[in-house]
Amino acid sequence: TMEFTDRVTRVEPSATLAISALATELEQDGADVVDLSVGEPDFPTPQNIIDAGQGAMDAGHTGYTTSAGILELREAISEKLAADGLDHGPAEIIVTPGAKQALYEIIQALIQDGDEVALLDPAWVSYEAMVKMAGGDLTRVDLSETDFQLEPALDDLEAAVSDETELLIVNSPSNPTGAVYTDAALEGVRDLAVEHDITVISDEIYKEITYGVEPTSLGTLEGMTDRTITVNGFSKAYSMTGWRLGYFAGPEDLIDQAGKLHSHSVSSAVNFVQHAGVEALENTNDAVADMVEAFGERRELVIDLLDDHGVDVAVPDGAFYMMLPVADDDQAWCEGAIEDAHVATVPGSAFGTPGYARISYAASEERLEEGIERLAEEGYL
Ligand code: PLP
Repeated sequence: TMEFTDRVTRVEPSATLAISALATELEQDGADVVDLSVGEPDFPTPQNIIDAGQGAMDAGHTGYTTSAGILELREAISEKLAADGLDHGPAEIIVTPGAKQALYEIIQALIQDGDEVALLDPAWVSYEAMVKMAGGDLTRVDLSETDFQLEPALDDLEAAVSDETELLIVNSPSNPTGAVYTDAALEGVRDLAVEHDITVISDEIYKEITYGVEPTSLGTLEGMTDRTITVNGFSKAYSMTGWRLGYFAGPEDLIDQAGKLHSHSVSSAVNFVQHAGVEALENTNDAVADMVEAFGERRELVIDLLDDHGVDVAVPDGAFYMMLPVADDDQAWCEGAIEDAHVATVPGSAFGTPGYARISYAASEERLEEGIERLAEEGYL
C-alpha cells in the first residue's frame, strides 16, 4: 500500500468542490440547480483576448518560454503595477499559471515547519491548505463581528501577531466577503508588519472589480515596499479562469528563491496564453468596465431582494461575493438549501467563519431572482 505524506494528508479537500459535486449529482437527476457557489465570472473572455491567443498560436508561439514569462508580458505587468503605484521591473515579476500557483510558490518559498502565518477570516479556502502543505501554523483573526472590515478589528490583529509571525495574507477586495479595506486599515497592517518584521502577501486578484471605491495596493505604503509581495491574475478581471494566467511581484531575493520552485515545477505559464495576457492588459479596459457595471447592478439586485425578505448583509464594495448570515450550522444550511431549494452556495465554515453562506452574484439577474425566491419559499431566508 502507498503511504502518503503528512503534507497532503493534513489538508482537507476543497469544500467548494464538494458543493459542486452535489450540484452536479442533482443536475444529473434532472434538477434545475441555481448555482451561486462558483467563483468565476459568467461572461465569456473578451473577443480581442481570444483573437490574440489564437493569433499567437498561429504565429507559432507554442514552445517553451523563459521561466519567469515572456518579457513583453512582464513589461506590460510592470506598467500595470506602476499605474497602481507599485514599482517592480520585469526582473521582479514571475508569470504563473494562475494566481493560485503564484500564492503556492510564495508560500513554499517563505514558510516551513512551525512558521506562523496570520489570516483575516473569513479567508479564501486555499490559503489555509497552502500554509498547511508548507508546514506552517495558522493564526486567524475573525472579522465577522465588524461587518468584515479590518479597520475596526485592528486591535484583534495586533493581539494576534507577534515577532513569531512570519507572514500575513491580505486579500482586498476579499473573497468571500467582498470587503475592501480602508487606507487606515492598511496603515494599521503596515505598522504591525514593520513592528514585528512580518512579510505580507497582498492578493489583489479582485482589485479591478469594485463599486465606487479605489482599493489601495498595500505595497505602495511607506515601509511596505520591501516586505510586500503583490499577487494578481487574469481570471477575474478579464474572465479568463480557464486560461490559467497570473503573476506575482516582489523583492528580487524572493523572486530568485520562488523562481527556482517555478522553474522546477511548472517551467512557465503557457506561451500563447501569455501573449493573450499582453492584449488583456493593453486593450481591454472597456470590456472590464462593462463586466464590472453588470456585477454592480446584480449586487444591488441581490441586496434589494434580500432586504425584501428582511435579510441584512454586509454590503460588499468589491469582487462578486457576499456573505449571507444563516443558521449556526452553515454546513447543514447549505446542504439543505441545495437539496430542498436547489440553490448552491458555499458554507462560511469553509472560509473559517461558520454561520454564513457565501453567495456569488456572478450569475444572470434572472437566475439570482430565481435563486433567492426559492430560498425564501423553502424557508431558508
Ligand atoms: N485568490 C483569490 C482570493 C481567489 O478568489 C482566487 C480564485 O478563486 C485566486 C486567488 C486564484 O485565481 P486563479 O488561480 O484563477 O488566478
